[in-house]
Amino acid sequence: MGSEFVRARGRGWRTVTGPTDHVVVVGAGVSGLSAALHLLGAGRSVTVVERDGHPGGRAGRDDADGFLMDTGPTVLTMPDLIEEALSAVGDSLGRRLDLVRLDPAYRARFADGTSIDVHTDPEAMAAEIGAKVGARDARGYLRLRDWLSRLYRVQMRAFIDANHDSPLRLLTPELARLAALGGFGRLGPAVERYVADERLRRIFTFQALYAGVTPQRALAAYAVIAYMDTVAGVYFPKGGMRALGDALADAVVDAGGDLRYGQDVRALERRGDRITAVRTADGSRLACDAVVLTPDLPMAYRLLGRTPWRPAPLRFSPSAVVLHAGVDRAWAGTHHHTLSFGAEWERTFDQICDAERP
Ligand SMILES: Cc1cc2nc3c(=O)[nH]c(=O)nc-3n(C[C@H](O)[C@H](O)[C@H](O)COP(=O)(O)OP(=O)(O)OC[C@H]3O[C@@H](n4cnc5c(N)ncnc54)[C@H](O)[C@@H]3O)c2cc1C
Repeated sequence: MGSEFVRARGRGWRTVTGPTDHVVVVGAGVSGLSAALHLLGAGRSVTVVERDGHPGGRAGRDDADGFLMDTGPTVLTMPDLIEEALSAVGDSLGRRLDLVRLDPAYRARFADGTSIDVHTDPEAMAAEIGAKVGARDARGYLRLRDWLSRLYRVQMRAFIDANHDSPLRLLTPELARLAALGGFGRLGPAVERYVADERLRRIFTFQALYAGVTPQRALAAYAVIAYMDTVAGVYFPKGGMRALGDALADAVVDAGGDLRYGQDVRALERRGDRITAVRTADGSRLACDAVVLTPDLPMAYRLLGRTPWRPAPLRFSPSAVVLHAGVDRAWAGTHHHTLSFGAEWERTFDQICDAERP
């Protein structure tokens, strides 16, 4: 097999010199399973090793008293990325998953007792804003949507769906386009230019917290996350989010991948700058030509035995306490996904992100 290893969706090759016939993927979360499918599609022999007893990783599961709970994400955005991974092995999303498009994508409830439903359909959302806020912000929303869509297109092509083997790869015409779109300004003020209502500003900026930054300080480029769940569409797989991990894992096995659960990777063997084998806690040794690591960075660096130098140290984003409850009834006023915003806003972010206080 040649030296070219994995192609990032049509652009930019991540090149690993030497043989790449057998690849071991560590982790059967969404990224490990997607990588395995792309590698299988590219003709590699693939072994996936996962320490848990099931696929999905952080798209997790917990079953108690007959309730099947999703412990990670409760909705799916960007299903085309899943389709792409499945189609790499000639499989398809339609065959593996039954997706329900959620409308509204979510319901936002506010401390003053009001609520706004977030629709990803432009007319429906403009009508909701027209009815709950006013005509001016409804028009502003349509312009905001257009800006989010343009930001997304530029960022996806040049920065998200691209390799970053060299910082020079970032120097593309898209960088100038992103700057021209205001991507390097601040998210809060950027969104304020389109919608004046405080509730709408929250709806279109709170997503910065996913990346551990406050909306006031986040780069406007983070608005791409708002694009994903307010424009592109929000879905729920029938059977729960666990159906996603199961679908990808089944596709890996059907495409000839070797998927092993209960395998905790403890060490990597190397020869020169190549990883030649993966060692697990039970003493197994899996020889390989290349390895894909999908655990968190600290674990990946530990396995690699080195932490690359960075100009600024990495900070963990804030954690959260999540309560899961199995219930046998529904409540009026809640939707599949209901976000309750408190009265506080900036002060809360300052406390969580800067003061690091719960
Ligand atoms: C409560 C919650 C809500 C979320 N909501 C959303 C959302 O709405 N939208 C969204 O996009 N994202 C959301 N996320 C984030 C999303 O779940 C993760 O970004 C995604 O699942 C990460 O996938 P991954 O494959 O990169 O990593 P992981 O899912 O962490 O997978 C890594 C895998 O590697 C395995 N592993 C680690 N170390 C080893 C080892 N040494 N040996 C063998 N196996 C190992 C782990 O067991 C795990 O299965 C949410 C996460 C949580 C927890």
